[in-house]
Amino acid sequence: MSDFGLIINGERVVTANSFDVINPATEELVAKCPAADEDHVNQAVAAAKAAFEHWSQVSDDERKAACHKVADLLEQNAAELAGIVTEEQGKPLGGFAGMGSQFELGGAIAWCRTTAELQLPVKVAQDDDQMRVELHRKPLGVVGSITPWNWPLMIAIWHVMPAIRSGNTVVIKPSPYTPLSTLRFVELANQVLPPGVLNIVTGTDEIGPVLTGHPDVNKIVFTGSTATGKKIMQSASGNLKRLTLELGGNDAGIVLADANVEEIAPAIFGSSFINAGQTCAALKRLYVHDSLYDQVCDALLGIANSVTVGNGLEEGIDFGPVQNQPQLKKVVELAEDAKANGARFLCGGEQPEGAGYFYPITLVADIKDGSRLVDEEPFGPILPIIRYSDIEEVFALANDNPAGLGGSIWSSDVAKAAELANRMECGTVWINNHAAIQPNVPFGGVKQSGFGVEFAEEGLEEYTSIQAVFIPKG
Ligand code: NAD
Repeated sequence: MSDFGLIINGERVVTANSFDVINPATEELVAKCPAADEDHVNQAVAAAKAAFEHWSQVSDDERKAACHKVADLLEQNAAELAGIVTEEQGKPLGGFAGMGSQFELGGAIAWCRTTAELQLPVKVAQDDDQMRVELHRKPLGVVGSITPWNWPLMIAIWHVMPAIRSGNTVVIKPSPYTPLSTLRFVELANQVLPPGVLNIVTGTDEIGPVLTGHPDVNKIVFTGSTATGKKIMQSASGNLKRLTLELGGNDAGIVLADANVEEIAPAIFGSSFINAGQTCAALKRLYVHDSLYDQVCDALLGIANSVTVGNGLEEGIDFGPVQNQPQLKKVVELAEDAKANGARFLCGGEQPEGAGYFYPITLVADIKDGSRLVDEEPFGPILPIIRYSDIEEVFALANDNPAGLGGSIWSSDVAKAAELANRMECGTVWINNHAAIQPNVPFGGVKQSGFGVEFAEEGLEEYTSIQAVFIPKG
């Protein structure tokens, strides 16, 4: 068991109180985590505010080099960090299709490097005999980052790296379920960043509002549930903080009548059950044309029957547990509701006995919109498969949901599927794929999946304001 402390102004801070971080596969203690109080949050914000004076003025090259040094440290400590992610989050080290915690580390490093290379050059809005007008990008100040428990380290990197790359300073508050990998990451990053540029406070949900309501915080970047996103929006209004909100999704995938079932089934399975379904942009509602319905169900069942669920530290495990008990309760509730309403369970659907928050890979057929499992995001290893016969009807159903994060169309006619993409009300549409995000492509939701984007130049811009400079000539 390692020992963890808050990092404020480059210093490790020991707190009087702590809370337990539990391994969801065993329900055993992973480590005691420092519990910050309101004073710690205030100290962290003050440190970030003081550090902003210097960090916002250092050269672009210096900030870029610092981001690459952070990536170097992630690479050097990847094995330790992946181990912590597995212990606190539950995902296997390797996992199904190699999408476990080692993949999370690989993603974290890739995002770090790509973000380091991003530029926000000065744009020229006008340049004539009378006037040159330049558009400069300026950092905002102190950024408060609040992260969830599903991809704890990768999402921390998504928040922190563009913030510091563009000259802001940060106070990060990870989920109390999975704070340890972020604590270790911040400790490592502080070996190469000036004191105060990156600070961390860990604690229960109660310290979140202290950060989101703080008058010296200029922006909040939040990834988590829509319910919490709404609360953050209210508490951030005091000083009109900028917001990026990446909230829940309930992504639809539509299998058209001309799809090649054998080819698409592995990708549908992988993108539905990635991280045991605990991924914001996982495929969560699968609509299948009547003519292929039984074939798709059989193909997915064949894959489901071949995978293993267990403790992610053991060899050969494809999927880990649900990360925490409240989330497991929600998955069970939605499954039981589907059962009570006559849905057909192709596999899974029974919670196993013994330690750990395990739930089997579960495929649910003969279910319709209007059932809770379809309408609500389960955020767990359960997929409803809905039959449709009319293309107009299926787009109406896919869009009839408050969430709008991602969506997908599966077809042998890629050009036709691409044409249909704009019928989907969501931030990203994939053809014959789902949930595949990249550091060079902006990602974000519409409707109640939030607003603002992350990644790429567009994501970096969200950590800056525009300053227009009018330079007269002659
Ligand atoms: P959550 O909203 O319960 O918690 C997320 C974070 O917010 C945690 O750090 C928590 O401590 C903090 N928090 C809780 N109450 C707060 C408050 N009042 N003020 C400030 N902070 C507060 O979400 P979760 O259960 O950790 O994550 C699961 C949800 O996140 C799912 O709905 C999922 O779809 C969504 N999610 C979205 C994305 C995305 O990119 N869109 C990515 C991952 C997860």
